Amino acid sequence: MNALTRKGSPGPAGIARIGVLGGGIAGLTMAVALRNAGLDCVVFEQAPRVETAGLGLQITPNASRLLARLGVGEAVDAVATQPLSIDVHRWDDGHRLARTPLGEACVETFGAPYYTVHRADLQQLLLRVLPTDTVRLGRRCVAVRCASDSVTAVFADGAEATFDVLVGADGIGSVARRALADDVRRFSGQVAYRGLVPADALPEWQGEPRVRGWFGPAQHCVCYPVSGGRFISLTAMTPDATVSVSEDSPAAQWNAPAGPAEDGAAPAASLARAAAEAYDGWDPLVRKLLQSAAALSLWRLNDRDPLPRWSRSRLTLIGDAAHPMLPFRAQGANQAIEDAVVLTDCLRQADDVQTALCRYEELRLTRTTRIQLSSRESAEVFHLGDGDLQLERDRDMPERWALRNNEWLFGYRAESAALA
Ligand SMILES: Cc1cc2nc3c(=O)[nH]c(=O)nc-3n(C[C@H](O)[C@H](O)[C@H](O)COP(=O)(O)OP(=O)(O)OC[C@H]3O[C@@H](n4cnc5c(N)ncnc54)[C@H](O)[C@@H]3O)c2cc1C
Repeated sequence: MNALTRKGSPGPAGIARIGVLGGGIAGLTMAVALRNAGLDCVVFEQAPRVETAGLGLQITPNASRLLARLGVGEAVDAVATQPLSIDVHRWDDGHRLARTPLGEACVETFGAPYYTVHRADLQQLLLRVLPTDTVRLGRRCVAVRCASDSVTAVFADGAEATFDVLVGADGIGSVARRALADDVRRFSGQVAYRGLVPADALPEWQGEPRVRGWFGPAQHCVCYPVSGGRFISLTAMTPDATVSVSEDSPAAQWNAPAGPAEDGAAPAASLARAAAEAYDGWDPLVRKLLQSAAALSLWRLNDRDPLPRWSRSRLTLIGDAAHPMLPFRAQGANQAIEDAVVLTDCLRQADDVQTALCRYEELRLTRTTRIQLSSRESAEVFHLGDGDLQLERDRDMPERWALRNNEWLFGYRAESAALA
């Protein structure tokens, strides 16, 4: 054992040393779940501090129930908003196409709330329940070596750490994934302008916390309250084939802000101009949101094809490292939370690591693959051009978006899956 690994007494499957690569939502949730199960781990995060990049997240009941089970439900409740509904509007005149009640209706239907939250708030509250030395910052993993009874992470400074189990939670550009697959990221052709709008820019929405979306030809826009309602998190997707970031650039490591040039974000004024042009002719409310955002950032939307396996020897993957997905179903972080809980339960129950990792894959692969693929399909449906298909979609929307028709997604109980 070297200086980077933590001493521990063997867990149920003879596991004494667990390493986690990446301190995003997946890695931090994994650490909290393991700790609750009496299993210690060390999280290695490449950034000098726990990253707060990214803005709003919709945390759906399939994951909010797990956060409560992990003991952070009240903390989430304190910083998150429970929107009253998801409202979808027509892109040009703002006419409302569908309203899906959330709030109490969601709790009654699925036994858990639907939240909107700032990513930084969620990460901070997960971090707070971990012992201070759990997350090691500034530790960039550059390679992973698998042996039959151990797995070794190699870091940028040449240090190595060997574990009984290593969990790759290092996002869409995962180094851990390279030990399993030689696939590449796919640029979807879509970029997202993202920003925070002070809530007082839209006084007409005060006391009306809702997820609001506008669907139009080739693009859509969504917004919802975060930070206790002080801000509105805004994401405006649009096609853009000109954004390119090379695989080796730091900005390519995950679905991160990416400027049109390789080495830096475009100036705020030019982003604001480009966003306004892209949304010319849209509902004045959308244009007002874009104009009122404190600073827009540009995000390139990538994904990868589903993998047939996530584990090799004693290495496994969770979150975006395992199944990056386009954000059209708002499930990437929710699925990462499900992964962390199921993997922990599998490790806790199995007699040996291989059995635990096989069981974890068995429980998770089909579900996450379905959601990855349906996220891609949603892009097509959201972005239909004006015409008959769009009209048909709009007519069906209230029914398709009804909570009862999303039981498979929101009603899923990952906490029971590993116990079945
Ligand atoms: C526009 C947009 C909107 C979204 N909206 C939602 C939503 O509403 N709901 C939802 O559930 N999901 C949403 N998502 C998806 C969600 O953001 C991701 O699925 C989620 O953040 C994945 O978490 P992760 O921890 O797996 O990966 P990441 O958040 O990418 O975290 C990976 C971590 O690993 C670190 N790391 C990377 N490489 C290394 C290395 N080599 N060594 C050490 N550390 C490393 C990174 O610094 C990072 O901290 C959205 C995504 C986008 C782009």
